[in-house]
Amino acid sequence: MSIAPRLRRLIRATGPVTVQAFMAEANMAYYTTRDPLGVTGDFITAPEISQMFGEMIGLWLAAMWDGAGRPADAIYVEPGPGRGTLAADALRAMARFGCTPQVHLVESSPVLIAAQRERVPAAQWHDTLATVPQDRPLLLVANEFLDALPVRQLVRAEHGWRERMVGLEGERFVAVAGDRPMDAAVPARWADAPPGTIIETCPGAAAVVAEIAGRLARQGGAALLIDYGYDQPATGSSLQAVQGHRKVDPLADPGAADLTALVDFATLAGVARAGGARHLGTMGQGAFLGAMGIAARASALARALPDRAELLAEAHQRLTAPDQMGTLFRVMGLAGADWPAGIGFDKP
Ligand code: SAH
Repeated sequence: MSIAPRLRRLIRATGPVTVQAFMAEANMAYYTTRDPLGVTGDFITAPEISQMFGEMIGLWLAAMWDGAGRPADAIYVEPGPGRGTLAADALRAMARFGCTPQVHLVESSPVLIAAQRERVPAAQWHDTLATVPQDRPLLLVANEFLDALPVRQLVRAEHGWRERMVGLEGERFVAVAGDRPMDAAVPARWADAPPGTIIETCPGAAAVVAEIAGRLARQGGAALLIDYGYDQPATGSSLQAVQGHRKVDPLADPGAADLTALVDFATLAGVARAGGARHLGTMGQGAFLGAMGIAARASALARALPDRAELLAEAHQRLTAPDQMGTLFRVMGLAGADWPAGIGFDKP
């Protein structure tokens, strides 16, 4: 649902809004009113490409659980579960190892909760991570969740740093520099960057990772956070929008397109360590799925379903090839103190 008319009224009445508020409002409206996934939606995600993705996640979680002594009270937790496809595929794979955790899904969209209920009927739902049980180990995964959380942008103006805002030029939303100095919010290494430089942070992602890390430290468990992102500090706006599988201007029609930003994995690894978790590593999705044995799984499925062999080979490529999702998508592994090193992360 487009919230453009409402945002225009707000900006005319009170002035530009921050990029962060713009993205938060736009995605809130976007996600609570539709199922954005699949061919008829706006974008497709790894679990929707092939069941193999969720199965490899499930194997990783089951191996962690097994290495930790098979704690019977461990729970499966997934923030932003989309249609519930990843949860269903992962839980099926885990069950083959005798790992049948209680399921806690964190989702705020009524439309998506209905879709999740079809695939994982026994789940319990939460509005936020805060109400997920605090007293037992977590087997947690989040795929393309952190990239939907609103980013804060600062822009270097002529005379110092300003918050990056969204204002109006006629009916059109445009990025503008705020009028208050923000120099104190900028890390020293960017202080003298040339005018026009933009730096981006994601307070929401940092808060989520801090909470997960604290829980892994106190409750035990393991987590995989998967998203497209980068491993080194960078400048520039990574805000982007997709609608009907095409990139569109992120400011054009808030609420009608999915807004995302690249995830800053280096910063989040630091946040996780500061929160008490072990950072097992951050690697490309292709390398991770390779280490989990996706090639063997693709062959086995192709033997069982010969008429789908071509589709399976295509999905395997799409998930793992460096020029597709294999490199840009990163997998960050986190764990509690006495948990294993994790398949894929165990080799330096
Ligand atoms: N993990 C799924 C879905 C990715 S889409 C998959 O891989 O297919 C992003 C998911 O995050 C959706 O489930 C959406 O409802 C949820 N989400 C987005 N912004 C959110 C927010 N601010 N708070 C809670 N959930 C959010």
